[in-house]
Amino acid sequence: MSEDSFDVVFIGGGPGGYIGAIKAAQLGMKVACVEKRGALGGTCLNVGCIPSKALLHSSHLYHEAGHGMKKHGIEVGSVKLDLDAMMDHKDEVVETLTKGIEGLFKKNKVAYLVGHGRINGPGQVEVELVDGGKKTLEAKNIVIATGSESTPLPGVEVDEKRIVSSTGALELEKVPQHLVVIGAGYIGLEMGAVWQRLGSKVTVVEFLDRVTPGMDGEVSKQFQRILEKQGLAFKLNTKVTGVQTTGKKLKVTIEPAKGGDAETIDCDIVLVAIGRRPFTEGLGLDSVGIEPDKRGMIEVGDRFETKADGIYAIGDVIRGPMLAHKAEEEGVAVAEMLAGQRPHIDYNKIPGVVYTFPEVAAIGRTEEQLEEAGVKYKTGKFPFLANSRARSIGQTDGFVKILADAETDEILGCHIIGAEAGTMIGELAVAMEFGASAEDLARTSHAHPTLEEAIKEAALATFAKPLNI
Ligand code: FAD
Ligand code: NAD
Repeated sequence: MSEDSFDVVFIGGGPGGYIGAIKAAQLGMKVACVEKRGALGGTCLNVGCIPSKALLHSSHLYHEAGHGMKKHGIEVGSVKLDLDAMMDHKDEVVETLTKGIEGLFKKNKVAYLVGHGRINGPGQVEVELVDGGKKTLEAKNIVIATGSESTPLPGVEVDEKRIVSSTGALELEKVPQHLVVIGAGYIGLEMGAVWQRLGSKVTVVEFLDRVTPGMDGEVSKQFQRILEKQGLAFKLNTKVTGVQTTGKKLKVTIEPAKGGDAETIDCDIVLVAIGRRPFTEGLGLDSVGIEPDKRGMIEVGDRFETKADGIYAIGDVIRGPMLAHKAEEEGVAVAEMLAGQRPHIDYNKIPGVVYTFPEVAAIGRTEEQLEEAGVKYKTGKFPFLANSRARSIGQTDGFVKILADAETDEILGCHIIGAEAGTMIGELAVAMEFGASAEDLARTSHAHPTLEEAIKEAALATFAKPLNI
């Protein structure tokens, strides 16, 4: 094999591409990964999961120092925000992690090409190197892992200074007095929470009638109530029709989603967070006859195969939830598949977590989905108010809800609002992957006192009386 010939070339070095590349190399293939941004880790590590979680944690500490210590008998003097240092911490975390992937590539002998990759007919990837020049790679297989980008809102132009996407919202130079967030989804609520804790007034405008619309309805309602108690304001069933940028303040024009009288909101920063769309610009798909669907998605079969021979696609650029761990599972699966194995991903068992405080976590189906599908199910619910550990740490907001099949008792879904919901949902992912029943969970010993005991009690509540309420 010549130096520039590979068993597989991954285009895109995000969680899908970089994990896929490492796995393929571990399985004995000669692998290259082409990434144009100059750092590995994709959206997730550079401008997504990691910087947002760093800011969520830092802003939570700031807020707790100012407001959460007194009840524990700790008097804190005046608490001062050093936003530059907070941003430095975030940037340092990102840099360490992205550099770490370069190390993993070296360790696993994955060739890393820093440049824009373009498919140039079957089996060929042309790379426009960031440092200048071009390279053509011969590839037995090509995996497209080019991810996604923020969906634009017509009439509201993002400049990443005053009107920002999540990327700009991660690096504001000062705390806005008033931040208007368009979209009450993952990004809107996480980034809204960060800036609200740091002192901004935050107004969230949502087109639909609830926050996090895909989530279980009962969870959405309680989540909104908790966020309102924390100070976020919501305008539901409302659309933004334009943002005027000429004055010192931005003027956001909103009107009822179904039409009606318009009003304006003055603010300093607008965050557009109405979803993300697959990114395939400049990828040369036409050279191999692939046409994305009208949402920009690349259609794939069960083996991630596209319509073109030897070309596969994974991650945000294909169907399914746009989540880093979903992209990673697909990266591993496509590598195993290319190595002749028969991997399988159960998309119903991929958890989703909103990392606000408290966190919101979900896996499997919601009550609404089960009702719509006509599935008979039982519900077991347990509030953190009745959990001794939650009481001890003063984090009693939220509950665990488990949905189980009425006949077989198989767990069909779990929905948690609570301080450690994102960690707790892991127990449900394992249980559901092993086809556990609610009774299996209820009869499993859970250490005392832990927040996880709420899971045991909720499971028990699907078929008997819970014990501690
Ligand atoms: P990406 O991570 O988008 O990576 C694709 C890469 O391909 C990019 O680096 C891009 O530069 C590169 N690329 C594109 N075209 C080319 C080309 N032609 N040549 C070379 N390189 C190219 N998910 C979670 O699970 N948990 C979270 O907490 C979370 N938080 C998020 C917070 C924010 C603010 C955002 C925006 C997203 C968040 N996500 C989170 C979603 C997560 O980031 C994505 O689902 C994940 O990154 C998708 O991985 P991917 O590999 O498919 O694509
Ligand atoms: P989202 O799909 O989560 O939420 C978008 C929201 O905007 C929805 O509630 C939608 O109804 C609303 N909306 C759409 N058009 C609108 C309009 N014109 N006016 C007002 N509201 C409108 O999208 P997002 O928050 O932009 O995040 C994109 C994706 O990134 C997420 O779906 C998720 O897959 C991923 N993400 C995940 C995490 C995490 O795992 N913690 C964090 C951030 C992002």
